[in-house]
Parts: sequence; C-alpha cells; structure tokens
Amino acid sequence: MATLRLDQVELLHVQRRLAHPFRISLGAVTAREFVVLRGRADNLVVYGEANIDARPFYASETVATVWDIITEVLLPPLLGRSFGSIEEVCQTWQSVRGHDYAKAAVEHLYWDLLGQIQGESIQQLLGGQGETVEVGTSHSIQADTQTFLQDIESALELGIRRIKIKVQPGWDDQPLAMIREHFGEITLMADANAAYLPEHLDHLAKLDRHEMLMLEQPLPSLDLVHHRELASRLNTPLCLDEGAHDLSMVENAVTFDACKIVNIKVGRVGGLSQAKRIHDWCHARQIPVWCGRRTGSGISMASELALATLPGFRHPADHGIELVQETLDHFVDITQFHRAGAEVRVPVEPGIGVLVDDAMLDRLSLRRLLCESSTHQI
Ligand SMILES: [Mg+2]
Repeated sequence: MATLRLDQVELLHVQRRLAHPFRISLGAVTAREFVVLRGRADNLVVYGEANIDARPFYASETVATVWDIITEVLLPPLLGRSFGSIEEVCQTWQSVRGHDYAKAAVEHLYWDLLGQIQGESIQQLLGGQGETVEVGTSHSIQADTQTFLQDIESALELGIRRIKIKVQPGWDDQPLAMIREHFGEITLMADANAAYLPEHLDHLAKLDRHEMLMLEQPLPSLDLVHHRELASRLNTPLCLDEGAHDLSMVENAVTFDACKIVNIKVGRVGGLSQAKRIHDWCHARQIPVWCGRRTGSGISMASELALATLPGFRHPADHGIELVQETLDHFVDITQFHRAGAEVRVPVEPGIGVLVDDAMLDRLSLRRLLCESSTHQI
C-alpha cells in the first residue's frame, strides 16, 4: 500500500489571458483567475487546481474562498501526515460542508502523488480505457453573427463534430436556426447556464425544432420541478450541469425524470472520487454522462480527460474550446494533448502525466503562499 504524505503545499493565484472574450448568459470574461496547488513530497512535485473564478457567478466558490478554505481548513490536518489511500485523505474533510472546488484541488494533489508513487497514470488509477477522448467546442454569445458563424466553421474545419452554443433569453432560437441553415445536420447542443425561469417554459419547448443532442441546464440549478415539466414537453434530452453538484442531486434528478444526461465537472462535484461515484451510479442505470469543463490549465484538463475514458462517458467532452481557440500564457504545453481532429490524447505517464513549466506558472501568479506545518507567505 502506498504511503501518501505531503510536507508542503504552495498555493498560486494564477491569472491567464484568453485569446478572445468568452460570453455566456452570466457575462463576459477576458481573463481567467484560478488557483493552482503545487505540493512536494520527498523528491516528487504534484499539482492540483481549482478552476473557479474571481467572482461567484458560475459557482458560489471563488479564488478567495478556495484560498481560505484550503489554507485554514483542508491542509492543516493533512500536511506532514501519512495516509494509506485517497479515501483516507478525503475523510479528513468529511465534516466540512460544501467548498467542492477547494476539496477537488487538494484531492488532486494526492491522485497525482499516488500515480507517481505507483508508476500509474490517473487513467489507470480510475480504471479508464482508451488512448483518446473526443472533444467538442463551446461557442460564446456573440453580438456579431458573422464572427459567431465563422468560429463554428473554423471548429468544424478542424474536425470538431459536436458544437455547443451558449444561450440566454433573446439569444437562442435565432442562432440555433442560423446554425441549422448554414451547417445542416451537425451535432448541436445548447447550454443556458441556468438563464431561464419557469415563465420561459413555452418558449424553451419551441427549441425542440432544432433537434439538438441535448439542452443543458436551462433552469435554476435546484429547480427540479420545472426541469421535469420541461423534460415532459421536449424530445430533446435535458442535461444537468450546475444542478448536478453531488450524487444525491443526480439521484434525485434522474429518479424524478428531470434530466436524461448528466454533465460531470470534477471541481463542481468535489473531486475525482466523487466524479467517479456519479459516473458509476449513472452507468449502472444507463444514464449517459459527459465531462464538462471550466477553463483552467492543462493540470485539470489532464485528469478530466482521464476520467472521460470511463465507459459511461458517452458524449464528447467540453475540452475543445481551449485547444481550438488558443488560450494565452500556457504553463502546460497543450501540444502534450496531441489533437487529431476531434480526438485528444489522454496522458499515459504516471500521475497527471503532463509537464508543467514552473517558471511560467510562477510568472503568471498574482500571489503565492507556502503552507507547511507553520504557514508563512513567500
Ligand atoms: Mg454548462
């Protein structure tokens, strides 16, 4: 049995510029801020990442909350202590409510550590199969329809086969119709990031005519009642994203016929262990899942792709956008994912299996904090 022990963990508040502003129903972003963890154990360096935002729009967690919870709550019972399994690590925060992105980032350090100690990739540790994962792109809300159509055309020319567009009231039926008119029967889906309300049900029901792969999270995350009502009026399957924040919520939504597909985001559900549990539950009931993405770095991308090789992941993962619309300031070289068409290579080397440029990571950090048994700022 491996002994999992970290003696120090450094938190890095990272800012990365995006090549193009990305607009969803919640607003537009031109740069992403998130938290990277760099842990040390003997001669090994391991990484974790909380790809949340500076502001609590997508999730209630932020860079600031993740920073505080990791330094003050999650790390103190871990540093300098030995654990026999990831499960034992996770038990240390059993009584901590919420803060799933923070937990996922810390857990990730130990998955990377376990993989490096045992000489196994995260894919092997999780039990995934296959060398590649199919990815799709996600296209932001655009004021300029010409640019919008050009972005989609570029993705299709690169071999992407699943196109997702972000929608909101006033930007839904028309862009979907435009896409069908220009590109015919491509695999198309829409994601509302919970932008609609029960009063929009009649309007949402009309989107059925676009014959989408799925409609993702149209209504507020906890509103299973109206998701169920909408599901009964649509042929298009409903998918939960923001609403699928743990296994219990997924069980409720599926049992209640409020969704037919589940988007699993590793951070949102509190880490790879929880993500696998949701996958296993859905797979046993033949509920398709797929791997969602929040823009971050290749650290989280590597383990998310590993997760997406489990057998229940039946739709393309969301990781195409960062590969097609080149994101600036990489500290993980994206060529390590060797894209061919819509297929992305899953890292096979031990741990997360990608090389991190630490000098670049340090340069992109707005602040850093080194946590040991006695924490001090560097
Ligand atoms: Mg989504």
